Amino acid sequence: MVALDGPSGTGKTTVARKLAARLGAGYLDTGAMYRIVTLAVLRAGEDPADSAAVGHRAHGTEFTIGTSPDQPELRLAGEDVAADIRGPEVTRAVSAVSAVPQVRELLVSRQRRIIADVLAETGGIVVEGRDIGTVVAPESPLKVYLTASADVRAARRSGQDSAAGRPSSVEAARESVERRDHLDSTRAASPLRAAEDAVPVDTSELSIDQVIVALSELACRRGLLEGCDAETGAGSGPAEVAR
Ligand code: C5P
Repeated sequence: MVALDGPSGTGKTTVARKLAARLGAGYLDTGAMYRIVTLAVLRAGEDPADSAAVGHRAHGTEFTIGTSPDQPELRLAGEDVAADIRGPEVTRAVSAVSAVPQVRELLVSRQRRIIADVLAETGGIVVEGRDIGTVVAPESPLKVYLTASADVRAARRSGQDSAAGRPSSVEAARESVERRDHLDSTRAASPLRAAEDAVPVDTSELSIDQVIVALSELACRRGLLEGCDAETGAGSGPAEVAR
């Protein structure tokens, strides 16, 4: 299992999916789970700051989350909500919802069940989030903490928003990313932080492929990638990796 944590805009989702595909492993986007609950709260017309109502709503929310790195399905009461959970309303409210202890308790226990099931089925999983290495799966054999400069994160997020048909200026993206990171890292319940034994990887100057090569090498050294030299990490590069 690989635990991939870090703030917004560091490339976590792209990296996690590609790495999972490379390792022949499953993939879990825990941020999507907090986003689905947030969407349910907003659709019910509830105030994301009302923690009692939010906790109650979380318990009554029926959703499914897929673990395939190629096409992770996200359904709220049967409806495909993959696009809706990335919208600005959910992005604005998700940090308040994810700070509610009842929500975290519920989702963390579900995340642990999904991880155990996927590990039993496929033998591997890459899990991305904010508290995977610290709270959800502190026993992970490889923990990575992705970072990137504020400028780079804002530029990436703005580019992603535009590509998804939600044009936003770099300045607006920067404000949104910084606001969310501040809320996520200062909340009382499992705040965003690197596990002591996490490997920090600064992605500011790296392409996605370079990050994948670096992480594949780490996975190789921890015995999580077949067909490579665990002593040197050699054979982990894209051309050499079979799956
Ligand atoms: O990763 P993503 O940006 O989709 O996460 C959305 C939000 O979900 C984060 O800003 C954070 O508030 C919350 N989150 C969390 N713990 C996780 C993953 C996400 O609190 N493990």
